[in-house]
Amino acid sequence: MTQANDSAVKALVLMSGGLDSRLAACVLRAQGIAVTGVSFTSPFFEATKAREAAAVLGLPLLVEDFTDDILGLVEHPPHGFGSGMNPCIDCHAAMLRRAGLLMEREGYRFIATGEVLNQRPMSQTRHNLEVVAVESGYKDSIVRPLSARLLPETEPERRGWVDRSRLLALEGRSRKPQFALAAQYGLKDWPAAAGGCRLTEPNFAGRLRELKRNEGLRDLEAIRRLRMGRHFRIAPAVRLVVGRDEADDEALERAARPGVDIVLGPVDVPGPTALLPAATSEADLLCAAGICARYSHAGTEPVEIEVRAGGQTRRLRVERMAPEAVERLRIA
Ligand code: SF4
Repeated sequence: MTQANDSAVKALVLMSGGLDSRLAACVLRAQGIAVTGVSFTSPFFEATKAREAAAVLGLPLLVEDFTDDILGLVEHPPHGFGSGMNPCIDCHAAMLRRAGLLMEREGYRFIATGEVLNQRPMSQTRHNLEVVAVESGYKDSIVRPLSARLLPETEPERRGWVDRSRLLALEGRSRKPQFALAAQYGLKDWPAAAGGCRLTEPNFAGRLRELKRNEGLRDLEAIRRLRMGRHFRIAPAVRLVVGRDEADDEALERAARPGVDIVLGPVDVPGPTALLPAATSEADLLCAAGICARYSHAGTEPVEIEVRAGGQTRRLRVERMAPEAVERLRIA
């Protein structure tokens, strides 16, 4: 692959780690452009695939914390949500805006993405590519190397920082041209095109929607816990999380915050660890203990549940809650 020299034009490529962003980097590097990847992290997505891609391609990678940006958008998405709680149009625009700020601050000449015109029915239409570019505030600095020849010319092309004639004109849903390009650049393995953002997962989105409605999105730990266990709404401000397996139980034990959470678990029989807020009434605590008992391996006898809160431990003897009552309180 062509390597850039010291005087090379520098560009930032938004790196999801999927094939298209890898190819965008390769197409630019083939012109001698010095490419740096940029990726974002939040409670809803990680930069794992981007890191793998950067390692394979030998690219420097900047990883930016996007938590505040995405929480603001999940709270109030100007363009609304996709199929889950994913505010994709606003999220893309905000990522491009962050990349644009980095570009200006660090002396990159332009930003590039691996987007392909009309590849995805919602986010990659000509109209939506235009909308996110305009709303990012960096429209004229965004190059889409895989479809650039089908899109309006941008400043980096006009100024000769990137040779438009060596950019591509891919369009549509077929991936065959990308596979051919991958072979040309010697790329062998890449992750599946979609996936990686929990906001698009129906179960996670349902839990997040419920959290937003009842408690708001201020507590990052509550958001992180949406990935663990079974969830129950005991009262408007009381969410119970019950481990599904040993891994969940260990994660919940680790996640418990002294003075903030109550930890529940059966004493004499195997069963789950459960967490609920310290500010829980005694009636709600008994209800939570009944649910915890339901998921224990006890028979029909009452179950002894240990309650740890604020450095103190006590025990409650409770009946297992009936399955239909448990289901009524279950979230997603
Ligand atoms: S899928 Fe998730 S990370 Fe990707 S643009 Fe949509 S909201 Fe943002």
